Amino acid sequence: MHKGYEKSHAAFAEAKNLIPGGVNSPVRAFRAVGTDPVFIERGQGCRMFDIDGNEYIDYVLSWGPLILGHAHPAVTDAIIESAKKGTSFGAPTLLETEMAKLVTEIVPSVEIVRMVNSGTEATMSALRLARGYTKRSKIIKFEGCYHGHADSLLIKAGSGVATLGLPDSPGVPDSVAANTLTVPFNDVESLKLAFEKFGEDIAAVIIEPVPGNMGCVLPQRGYLQEVRRITREYGALLIFDEVMTGFRVAYGGAQAFYDIEPDLTTLGKVIGGGLPVGAYGGKKEIMEMIAPAGPIYQAGTLSGNPLAMIAGYTTLKLLGRPGVYEELTAKSKRIAEGFKEATAELGIPSYATYVGGMFGCFFTDTQVVDYTTAKTSDLERYGKYFREMLKRGVYLAPSQLEAGFTSLVHTDDDIDRTLEASRDALKTL
Ligand code: PMP
Repeated sequence: MHKGYEKSHAAFAEAKNLIPGGVNSPVRAFRAVGTDPVFIERGQGCRMFDIDGNEYIDYVLSWGPLILGHAHPAVTDAIIESAKKGTSFGAPTLLETEMAKLVTEIVPSVEIVRMVNSGTEATMSALRLARGYTKRSKIIKFEGCYHGHADSLLIKAGSGVATLGLPDSPGVPDSVAANTLTVPFNDVESLKLAFEKFGEDIAAVIIEPVPGNMGCVLPQRGYLQEVRRITREYGALLIFDEVMTGFRVAYGGAQAFYDIEPDLTTLGKVIGGGLPVGAYGGKKEIMEMIAPAGPIYQAGTLSGNPLAMIAGYTTLKLLGRPGVYEELTAKSKRIAEGFKEATAELGIPSYATYVGGMFGCFFTDTQVVDYTTAKTSDLERYGKYFREMLKRGVYLAPSQLEAGFTSLVHTDDDIDRTLEASRDALKTL
């Protein structure tokens, strides 16, 4: 029995008086799906429970980190034991070296790694490093890719292909935006054009190898190889933003899955096991430009703190068991194919994708390959679908243009229930 949203609605009304928009990160406000957020009381496994007593099968998983589910006993116990010995020292600990060793073993291109506290910090620092290392100032990003909220990365496309970027938010200076070029994803020609025009000035290309911030969009065969080839040709660094795909698309991330060697990699989400962590790493020669090994400055009071390190370390160790990524892929595949099947039966246009523990379900009959095609999705229909799913106890991403996530603790039965709810919800559209 659905218990309504009375307490959540009251809580949101109060929060809005005290927190901008009532939330500490915008997408939580459910604006894109035309309703108010539910307030969460606790999570266990793949389930979340709201303050009205409703239960949800969760496919957001804190936006990706909780690949082992909520409150995994091994992770929780590790955090508790570690907390008893102190939460932060601002001095080196053995665990940080263990963590670095583990990350460099898992992520193929990462020889040496620096811990930070969020994905935003990781990408922001990687860009500074790329600019300092190459002594060039421009960067290229892709339309619809999100890399956190640093000024250089909150940029939308200028008009026409390979033009300078424009601020995507008030407060980002035009002069900063002008150093970010944007091109469409999966479009080799546009990237070539940008390099022909600005090649000498381009420090780096930053890319989500599997974009997850415009739904889940797959790179076309050979595309990432071309991006690698072109960046090498012009002496620009290739930064794989694997904040979302790291330890999720495959143990070694998208770079292992697609067999590409980026110069720098940014990590976040899963690497923190549900605590605030980011990291950036890559070739030793480049990374050693970072202070105190080199002259490029980057620092953090709480970076590498023992709680975050032990939560991440425990998570990564558990993900190293054989069969983990086959299992995640099978679950994502069932969700994507189930959505495809049910929409087809009802004559609703749809497109679905999956890779490893990520999936995308779009209400469009267009093949989604970039931001333009992602935006052909019927956002209103998704909003209704989202609300109907929520009522039926399934918590999906509160925006069509976000990836869905599976975890190791979603059971076949959970997925059966999800697909059943989905069929019911689709019938109401
Ligand atoms: N890069 C990617 C690919 C992301 O998905 C995100 C967050 N969704 C970020 C960077 C920013 O990470 P954070 O929110 O931890 O700052």
